[in-house]
Amino acid sequence: MYRTHNCGELRLADVGKTVTLAGWVQRVRDFGQMSFIDLRDRYGITQLVVDKSDVGREFVVQVTGKVVERSSKNPNIPTGEVEIAVGELKVLSAAETPPFTIEEVSDGGDELRMKYRYLDLRRAPLQRNMMLRHRMAQSVRRYLDEAGFLEIETPYMIGSTPEGARDFVVPSRMNPGEFYALPQSPQTFKQLLMVAGYDKYFQIVRCFRDEDLRADRQPEFTQIDCEMSFVEQEDVLATFEGMARFMFRETMGVEFGEEPFVRMSYADAMARYGNDKPDLRFGMEICEITNIVKNRDFAVFNEAEYVGAVVATGCADWTRKQIDEMTEYVKRPQIGAKGLVWVRVDDEVKSSVDKFYQPDDLQRWIAEVGAQKGDLVFVVSGSRLQSLRVLSELRLELGERLGLRDKSRFAPLWVVDFPLLEWDDDTQRFYAMHHPFTSPKPEDIALLDSDPGSVRANAYDFVVNGVEVGGGSIRIFDSGLQARMFDLLGFTPEQAQAQFGFLMNAFKFGAPPHGGIAFGFDRFCSLFGGSDSIRDYIAFPKNNSGRDVMIDAPSLIDKSQLDELCLISTAK
Ligand code: ASP
Repeated sequence: MYRTHNCGELRLADVGKTVTLAGWVQRVRDFGQMSFIDLRDRYGITQLVVDKSDVGREFVVQVTGKVVERSSKNPNIPTGEVEIAVGELKVLSAAETPPFTIEEVSDGGDELRMKYRYLDLRRAPLQRNMMLRHRMAQSVRRYLDEAGFLEIETPYMIGSTPEGARDFVVPSRMNPGEFYALPQSPQTFKQLLMVAGYDKYFQIVRCFRDEDLRADRQPEFTQIDCEMSFVEQEDVLATFEGMARFMFRETMGVEFGEEPFVRMSYADAMARYGNDKPDLRFGMEICEITNIVKNRDFAVFNEAEYVGAVVATGCADWTRKQIDEMTEYVKRPQIGAKGLVWVRVDDEVKSSVDKFYQPDDLQRWIAEVGAQKGDLVFVVSGSRLQSLRVLSELRLELGERLGLRDKSRFAPLWVVDFPLLEWDDDTQRFYAMHHPFTSPKPEDIALLDSDPGSVRANAYDFVVNGVEVGGGSIRIFDSGLQARMFDLLGFTPEQAQAQFGFLMNAFKFGAPPHGGIAFGFDRFCSLFGGSDSIRDYIAFPKNNSGRDVMIDAPSLIDKSQLDELCLISTAK
């Protein structure tokens, strides 16, 4: 037997027992003829007292000895009241000095820790993340199983489609010159499962998108993918609000009370928060003042399509330097503001546009935006969409600086009534805002011909703390309406048939009304864990250039392999 207990288990009550432990040496402290060793496994750390030995960091050892009460206790760890007086120590596996310290906080840089990911994964913070991920996955399975969902797998080798993001492709040896694509999501398959009568489906499934990477994106990522038949939007929202509550309760101990989650229309979210995934942990809503600022000789506002403001609560005492910092923040190319107008609401009202506006004018603005004495008002102008974008970023940054975005608080909501289509100026065509299978709201179908841009969809997003955690829709289940949708998206009937004929044909054989949702599981985990990076919740993630630096992938392949696949070598 390798061990009688794990390294997180022993307590005062065990004093006197003879035990055997096995694990990794985290640290050795030598005191003359005696050494203290911190022995680690995924359950915790237990202190060993040994005669001087020559084990080093990360050796795997097995020890047998007596549990004794420590004279100087460590209140920070559960095993901190005891130690093992080791009688016998056996080295099971020696270790080279690790390239970085494997402790709560490591001295290793990002690249190095990625290269030795298996060592980084030994660290307690990452082990906690993996355990959280596991518990979340289990709670999803428990809830959905209880609700009658079936877990069904769909293929990873499918066909490429031009809609959506770029596909990763896989050459087919048996079909020279042809390619599979890895799924961006199991969307069409889960809809076919509904046609096949499976009624309630889910899968915790890997998806692949060949996009540029950011902190919250990976080329392969995991979705909790779900679909249901004979449902309307309300049924889907109720089921998955239930799942979210269950996950919060089971894995985080967070309860939200009786009130249903906030529902907000896309139009409202845009007008009040400047984006479709509002962070509701704090107020400071955007307020439009276009109509009351065009009465003076200030061309910037007079020519603007939109003028809007956010109130920085209690910031009237900000220095010019602090205000300039905010201005610089929104002028960064990623945000692209031209500048910021400000109004300081104090005993005396001062603004950056005092040359153009009278105190009475400013008082009207202040009343309109609901600012109080002690506040600082920021005003942004320009095109409506661009201004809202700037105001959104400004609001979030102010929230950050004012400490209003507490990671241990959660503010979930549903954003509903998304537009069905989005116009793209570059390509001069509509794109599906969610995806081409999303159904228009029945009451808006008449607008499909006259004003397609204003048609709303039966689509919804689940948002927590400004993060889009999930999204889905009620689907089109009529082959005629689906064909019309492809037409609106600029497909010829032949193209639609070639790309999605299998789905439209399936709809001809008795398709039930259906709808579903998919959650970004990695993001859900990082949100629960209080981190901005999904990488910390994926055991073996890729770096920002899409590389796995541990196994050094992607990599060149042999000429013979290329030949077999009928691919031309680009290798030197
Ligand atoms: N397949 C969709 C997505 O990946 C989610 C859904 O509509 O269920 O965003």
